[in-house]
Amino acid sequence: MTAKIIDGKAVSAAIRVELRERIAKLKSRGVVPGLAVIMVGGNPASAVYVRNKIRACEEVGIKSLRYDFAADARPEDVLDLITALNARPDVHGILVQLPLPPHFAISSILQTISADKDVDGFHLYNVGGLVVGDTVFPPCTPYGVVKLLEHESIPIEGRNVVVVGASNIVGKPMALMLMQRDATVCICHAKTRDLAQFTILADILVVAAGQPNLILPQMVKTGAVVIDVGINRLPGGKLVGDVDFSGVAEKASYITPVPGGVGPMTVTMLLANTVVSAERSI
Ligand code: NAP
Repeated sequence: MTAKIIDGKAVSAAIRVELRERIAKLKSRGVVPGLAVIMVGGNPASAVYVRNKIRACEEVGIKSLRYDFAADARPEDVLDLITALNARPDVHGILVQLPLPPHFAISSILQTISADKDVDGFHLYNVGGLVVGDTVFPPCTPYGVVKLLEHESIPIEGRNVVVVGASNIVGKPMALMLMQRDATVCICHAKTRDLAQFTILADILVVAAGQPNLILPQMVKTGAVVIDVGINRLPGGKLVGDVDFSGVAEKASYITPVPGGVGPMTVTMLLANTVVSAERSI
């Protein structure tokens, strides 16, 4: 079997066409969706992500406001900015690019963002909504994965799903979102013993561990759908996921490439959440 490659760029472009239409409607009613992006310190990877988000906003007609703080900034100053942005009617989404410098308490920053403007979906209110199946802002990366599965008409109900990675940003919300769609979900992490005994059972395997070549062909069931969330830069500079792409593509029915799979979807779902927030404001 040779897998169909799921083209995240194409799915993302199709969603952005629909978002542009919704943004035009909002503008005709006097509302320009606005996203505030806060970055602290000069982490080069974060700088690239922030630039991509700002560019994506411009492309679809979302107004972006960028705030840069030095790495030694006082957390109080960032909290004050968030409080001011919470009160601004022209700002519909606020995101703080992670990671933050070690002297920041991430939870206090995330909990200060108004739950109504939490377009990353990290506020406890939105996390709770996800747990009970009443989500307003699904976290962007797992949301993007669900959209890819939907776009390919891949059934989720009743399927065995294995999620490798249990972070608050990707693995855990991914598992919850697929459980809500009536999959049978197993979550694996770094302390899982014999990862392969779980992955081999997966009809849908989502991998978000940040470990190149973690998933080899012998760990994958023939015909499985394999979604590679991982982004790893190899010493030579090449960008790869967590899955041995060429080997696993011979066994899977569908596979996402890195780059060009989940990555573009993450930014697009951030735009989608910002548009939803603007629509909820009127
Ligand atoms: P993270 O916070 O470092 O979490 C990694 C998770 O993977 C942890 O739960 C860890 O287990 C688990 N893990 C690590 N090594 C493992 C192994 N050998 N076997 C099984 N599980 C293992 O990372 P993250 O933020 O979730 O991101 C994961 C990857 O996705 C990274 O490569 C990141 O760059 C990428 N990512 C991509 C996008 C995108 O848009 N495509 C967005 C976000 C993240 P423990 O909990 O036991 O430590």
